[in-house]
Amino acid sequence: MLKLSEVTKFFVVFLFIIFLASFLHAQEKTAYPDIPRIDVHTHIGSDLQTVSNFLDLREQLKEKYNIDVAMWINLGSSGSPIIDLDSFMKAGQDRILCSISDYSPHDGFDLPPLELPKKLEEGYIGFKIWAGPPARRLKPGQIGFPYIDNPAHEPTFAKMEEIGMLATSIHIADPNGPFDRRTRWLPDPVEYWRQIMAFRHVLESHPNLKVVTAHAMWAICQDAQIDYLRNALATFPNLNVDLAATFQYFNLVTYDNLRSFLIDYADRIVYGTDIGQIRDADGISSRMEAYNRSFQILETDKMVDGGFFGSTKTKGLALPKEVLEKIYYKNAMRLYPKVREHLEKLGYTVD
Ligand SMILES: [Zn+2]
Repeated sequence: MLKLSEVTKFFVVFLFIIFLASFLHAQEKTAYPDIPRIDVHTHIGSDLQTVSNFLDLREQLKEKYNIDVAMWINLGSSGSPIIDLDSFMKAGQDRILCSISDYSPHDGFDLPPLELPKKLEEGYIGFKIWAGPPARRLKPGQIGFPYIDNPAHEPTFAKMEEIGMLATSIHIADPNGPFDRRTRWLPDPVEYWRQIMAFRHVLESHPNLKVVTAHAMWAICQDAQIDYLRNALATFPNLNVDLAATFQYFNLVTYDNLRSFLIDYADRIVYGTDIGQIRDADGISSRMEAYNRSFQILETDKMVDGGFFGSTKTKGLALPKEVLEKIYYKNAMRLYPKVREHLEKLGYTVD
């Protein structure tokens, strides 16, 4: 039989274990449960099962990490247009807004520029253009002007500029890393800068075009690229960038440079992931961890095991709360039609 002192000792140890477990669990949760987060770069596509899986993912993120992903911008996916936007929006319970898209421009876009105003009237919030490197975009033997400043794109950009249609996460280049760590996507810096300069021509020709450029314009994999990004954002007031798929490259640049850039240009940066369709419970749980990693990188100073993609260890940037609020939802509210209205309808108090 235990003596009283042994019982007390046992009880104290038991309480300590309970305390430690709840402390560690609390450590995993976000310090900012009240900031709504909007993922502006998703490829949810048109499948209603995926929509339901995203809503489940949202619930699970809240439950496990106290993270509130309030809304998603659906940029579509190649070859699967939404047939009935109203039913799709209903299925998304006001949390998913949709952009029209073109994933294979080679000599102009499929949709004639005159059709664009109708798309805004139908409820789409912008136009996603994927114009990656010609080698990834054009089929062998296909004729096409290689870059985004293709003259055939001009009437579309002019129309978008005229009607104020947002270029949602326009993709104009692929990542090019430092000398000894080029990425497999675009290892040639000469070709890389041709693509970047071609986009600059578009910005120069269309100063009023409202743009969110995908993946921080892919100018975030070298320190000097971040300086170029500073230059571009300072030069073109309607240019903005999303952070989709960039987190796994944060270790390629100087920590303080990246952190300083994100703080200085916080008004022009939006959160995004490049998440694709979610088909099952395993998909929900792996994407939940991916979301949590990307938020930890932005919010904490911990070493995080990977970005949204990949497993590169990355030190968290511990960004200030006001910066996080801008990147997570305030800028999206300013840039994307209907976002504010939907957040308010969903019960968020937004200023
Ligand atoms: Zn994407």
